[in-house]
Amino acid sequence: MSSILSGVIVITGGSRGIGRSTALACVRAGARVVFSYQGNEQAAQSTLDACRAIAGNDCVLAQRGDVRNEDDVIALFEFAREQFGEITGVVNNAGIVAPSMPLAEMDAERLSRVTEINVLGALLVARQAARDLADNGSLVNVGSMAAKLGSPNEYVDYAASKGALDSLTVGLSKELGPRGIRVNCVRPGLIATDIHASGGRPERVAELGPLCPLGRPGEAEEVANAILWLLSDAASYTTGSLIDVAGGR
Ligand code: NAP
Repeated sequence: MSSILSGVIVITGGSRGIGRSTALACVRAGARVVFSYQGNEQAAQSTLDACRAIAGNDCVLAQRGDVRNEDDVIALFEFAREQFGEITGVVNNAGIVAPSMPLAEMDAERLSRVTEINVLGALLVARQAARDLADNGSLVNVGSMAAKLGSPNEYVDYAASKGALDSLTVGLSKELGPRGIRVNCVRPGLIATDIHASGGRPERVAELGPLCPLGRPGEAEEVANAILWLLSDAASYTTGSLIDVAGGR
């Protein structure tokens, strides 16, 4: 895909995984990107370099920040506007999982961390998008098939946090429709990124991938393609939608 996207796209968690692939897809398609990351400077620099190799030095910027922190979220959007101008698209992507276990074994600190990053963080980013997006812009929330499947004995806290993104998508699409702003949710299935190792199960993709109806895990690029479509004018009449990119799971 080339030259299907113009404007300025803000991506949270753009240094690795699905966010990184989305940043690459956006600059390849013609947009300028500002992405955030939590702390992995090396990964952020790698994504900056990869974007610049595709579309030149002026196509991308990165800013460190935590989506749980209101000031960081506000600063990210301000930075994007100051550096590149009006924001036309937002990808609400940063999220985490925690180690697999039944809900009965989870402590309150973990429940709080997952909820703060995946729900409070996503709400703060969506609120800022509602304030700062240009009319006729596009917000894409990165949810999960876990919202539908429930993730029993793995992480029902995570599944519940992603269920919140489904509801956020439906409600905010109705609030922002009169401004022409589209709000959609992409729900990835099992995608080969670092998130599984960070949740303590690096083998999860190799174990569960073959069990998907398509017989394999997904790649981050395959999710990025759906996000890119939702950001673009090609999706001009799509809003309030939950789009599963899950190999049939
Ligand atoms: P990932 O490879 O672990 O990358 C996570 C990204 O989010 C990194 O850029 C990380 O920054 C950033 N991040 C983490 N916590 C943050 C915070 N508090 N504030 C700001 N940035 C933060 O994850 P992924 O697999 O690409 O997942 C991206 C999204 O897709 C998540 O919302 C996830 O729930 C969802 N998803 C993933 C899968 C899957 O199978 N991979 C399936 C369904 C849904 P650093 O690099 O600085 O750490």
